Amino acid sequence: MRIGLGEDSHRTEPGGPLRLGGIDVPHDRHLVGHSDADVLLHAVTDALLGAAALPDIGRMFPNTDPANRNRDSAEMLGLAAAKVAEAGYRVVNLDCVVHAERPKLADYIDAMRHRIAGALRLNPHQVSIKAKTGEGVGPVGREELVVARCVALVEANEGGSG
Ligand SMILES: [Zn+2]
Repeated sequence: MRIGLGEDSHRTEPGGPLRLGGIDVPHDRHLVGHSDADVLLHAVTDALLGAAALPDIGRMFPNTDPANRNRDSAEMLGLAAAKVAEAGYRVVNLDCVVHAERPKLADYIDAMRHRIAGALRLNPHQVSIKAKTGEGVGPVGREELVVARCVALVEANEGGSG
């Protein structure tokens, strides 16, 4: 068994929707970044790569490569997961936290869990997502930033490189 930690943050700008966890959440702000800026999928991707001690998302998909401009983060997650599988690991479970002042994410959590599970060919029960606010203070509380963290547990396949 190995554990990985992924952390990411993206700033927000006016105009929705909010792309988060592979779905479009209705909102009046969106995340800004080189790719589609899906902060939750980036944290999941880095947690998986980290669990296998592979190069992180920034090295796998450099922002100097025009191919990564506005790239679908679900596609990047799938490619990273394939690298982790090639390295001889399968995912046991993921646990994630999203820090966003608005919108209320409770109604969208299950859709995100199913989207991430689908991209990784997991059961949704293997994917946990929790949402927190910024308590009205700091860059998250002022709605300038959304932060996501994820831990991933992976298990070496029988006969895998380990
Ligand atoms: Zn990111």
